[in-house]
Amino acid sequence: MRSWSLRIGTFFGIEVLVHWTFWILIIWVFLMHFQAGHGWWQGVWGALFVLALFACVVLHEFGHALTAARFGIKTKDITLYPIGGIASLEGMPEKPGEELLVGLAGPMVNLVIAFLIWVYLTATGQPLDLAAVGSDDMARLPFLWNLLFANVVLAVFNLIPAFPMDGGRVLRSLLSFVMDKSNATRAAAALGQFLAIIFVFLGFFYNFWLVFIGLFVFLGAGGEAAAETMRAALSGLKVRDAVMRRFTLFRPDDTIGRVVDVLLNSQETVFLVADADRPIGTLSRTELIRGLSEQGKDALVSGFMNTDFAVAGPEMKLQDLMEQLSAKGGAAAVMEGDSIIGLIDRENIEEKLLVQRTLKERNKI
Ligand SMILES: [Zn+2]
Repeated sequence: MRSWSLRIGTFFGIEVLVHWTFWILIIWVFLMHFQAGHGWWQGVWGALFVLALFACVVLHEFGHALTAARFGIKTKDITLYPIGGIASLEGMPEKPGEELLVGLAGPMVNLVIAFLIWVYLTATGQPLDLAAVGSDDMARLPFLWNLLFANVVLAVFNLIPAFPMDGGRVLRSLLSFVMDKSNATRAAAALGQFLAIIFVFLGFFYNFWLVFIGLFVFLGAGGEAAAETMRAALSGLKVRDAVMRRFTLFRPDDTIGRVVDVLLNSQETVFLVADADRPIGTLSRTELIRGLSEQGKDALVSGFMNTDFAVAGPEMKLQDLMEQLSAKGGAAAVMEGDSIIGLIDRENIEEKLLVQRTLKERNKI
């Protein structure tokens, strides 16, 4: 995704990126306004408005990111998509009070912007033309009044108490004061999905956009609940609990054909490549298939292995490794001192969780 995004700049140590699909939105808005028969000026007006609005969205994301930074959580980047901005935080604070502040910070930024615009408009004597409110022609209302309303809408919309909106996070952190975190997540996610169904239902009668928002919220709530369940299940487990200790080690000058033989004749699905007992790459189905299709069975492992893989120690928390594997993909080499003791990937971890859950169920009477 990264290569499809344009880098705008780095502020407070956080990169701001614009995804290419965002420019389609700008062109679309320009054409819509232009086509409405109002001429170039209307088109430019619409495009400028969207740009100004998205500048406010970026400030909203910085609200989250800079609040999180106060609690020691870094943000990788902020990317703008046509549906809004996403700040990639490297984690979420564990304390509910801190999560509450991080969640509220975004919408608060929009309310502050709206307030500042209001102060400016009032001070410069530009009252609201009530006749223009709600008319079809956005441009009849001054640019800044439009921007003020849009910021209020952004704040309210984001405070809907449903994942993946900020309001879902706020609700979860409030519930976390009175119940444990996974129950709080489940409750917040359930409310989110309930609201989403209402959105979809209302959307069919009133505004079709609500259907999209509803589906977006529904999927987001489910995803968040699943991630939290996984997080809770992983807590307390270490890499040594899930590491695959029986594995075939390959050398960089082995052929892809040899690896495929092992793949077909064993339970192994990912492989480690080592040079003089030092791990230098991993191979999964993706790399094997690429090697086979590009150069056939005699291709060398070294040309296709993934060299950007994680290395973990047996005492590392599974939760931390899972986060790394989600970001990087592939498998991790497990090292104890200088020697390779095993290999681990998401599948191992998920299997481990499955076994644990089954054992727990068995103990229930
Ligand atoms: Zn937000």
